[in-house]
Amino acid sequence: QASQRISTILGGGSDGWEVFNRARQMIDAGTSVTELTIGEHDIRTAAPILQDMHRAAVGGHTGYASIPGIAALRDAIAARVTASTGVPTTRDNVMITPGGQAALFASHTAVTDPGDTALYIDPYYATYPGTLRGVCAKPVAVQAHASDAFQPRASDIAAAAKGAKSLLINSPNNPTGVVYTRETLEGIAQVCRDHDLWLISDEVYDTQIWEGEHISPRALEGMEERTLVVGSMSKSHAMTGSRIGWVVGPAHVISHLVNLATHTTYGVAGFIQDAALFALELGKEFETEIAEPFRRRRDLALAVLASQNVVGAVPNGGAMYMMLDITATGLSGEAFAYGLLEAHHIAVMPGESFGAAAAGHIRVAMTIEDSAFEAAMKTLCAYAES
Ligand code: PLP
Repeated sequence: QASQRISTILGGGSDGWEVFNRARQMIDAGTSVTELTIGEHDIRTAAPILQDMHRAAVGGHTGYASIPGIAALRDAIAARVTASTGVPTTRDNVMITPGGQAALFASHTAVTDPGDTALYIDPYYATYPGTLRGVCAKPVAVQAHASDAFQPRASDIAAAAKGAKSLLINSPNNPTGVVYTRETLEGIAQVCRDHDLWLISDEVYDTQIWEGEHISPRALEGMEERTLVVGSMSKSHAMTGSRIGWVVGPAHVISHLVNLATHTTYGVAGFIQDAALFALELGKEFETEIAEPFRRRRDLALAVLASQNVVGAVPNGGAMYMMLDITATGLSGEAFAYGLLEAHHIAVMPGESFGAAAAGHIRVAMTIEDSAFEAAMKTLCAYAES
C-alpha cells in the first residue's frame, strides 16, 4: 500500500483533464484535432541554445554539477533580478532547480510543516493543490472573481489567512492570463505582513506581458524576507523539456533548499545549466522574440471576439492563454469544451479544470500557428453562437 501522502496527491476527485485525455484518444485514433490545451510553445528550443548544450556536453559537463547551481548561472539570474526589481540580489539568494514545478515543491517544503495551511488563488495552475498536498500542507483556495477580472481581493485572502503559513500567487496568471496590478500586489503584501505569511510568487510567465507591467512582489516593502520567487526558462526561452528553473529568496532559506536538493534531485545537469546561461545572455531581444507570437495571436483573437457578442474575454495582460467567458451559451465550461471537441475537433480546457472560480469559462492556449489559431477562434465563436 502506497503512503497516504502520495496516494492523495490528486485529492481523490477528478483531475480535471478528462477533455484533454479525450482529445489525446481522438488523436491516437487518427483524428486531426486542433490542440489548444497545454502551455507548450509551437516552436522548439532555438538551435544556438541546443548547440551550446551540445558544446558543453561534449566539452565534459556531464558529471555531477554544483547542487545549488553553477555560480555563473546563479550570478546571471541574480543580476537579472537586481536589474528588474531594484532589490540587491546575489548568488546566495538563488537556487537552480529542475524546472519551476520542482521550485514550487521545494519552496513549499521550505516554509510549511505537515498540516500547515497553505493558501492559493482559484483559478489556479492545475498542479498547485497536488503540490501542496505533496508536501503535506493543507491546501486552502481563495477565490478570485470573474467580476473583478480575476484580480484577487486582499480582503478575501485576509479572511482565510488566520493561522495560515503561506500564500501562493501567480502573475502573469495561468489559466486567466491576468497580470496582477500594483494595487492587487500591495494588498496581498499587506495581508502577508499582517498575518506573517510566506509569499510564494510564481513568475514563470514574467517575460510574456501584453499590457501593464510585471511587478515582482519581492520588491514591495517588507517583502524581501518573506518571499520566494519561482522562475523558469520553460516559457521564456521555449525550454520546457530542459527542466530548468529557480527559486530566489532569503539566503538562509536557499541554504535549506540546497540540503533538500542534496537529498532529492541532486541538482540539474551541467550542460543544461551551461545552455541556460547562454540563453539568458541572448538578452531581452530574444525573450521578446519568443513571446511575440502569443502577442500576435492575442490580437487576432481579440479581433475575432470583437465581431460577436456571445463569447467574452477576460482581459489577459500576459501569458500564453486566453480565458473566455461562455456563460451566455448556458453551458458549463466542461460541456462547452466537450461539445467543441466532438463537433469541430478543437480541444480547449474547461475553466472548471482550474477551480470553481473559472466555471462557465474555457481556457485557450495560443500555441498554434497564427492562421490556424484565428480560424479556430472563429469556429469556437460560431459554435458558441449556435
Ligand atoms: N507555474 C505555472 C503557472 C505554469 O503554468 C507552469 C507550467 O505550465 C509551471 C509553473 C511549471 O513550469 P516548469 O516546471 O516547466 O518550469
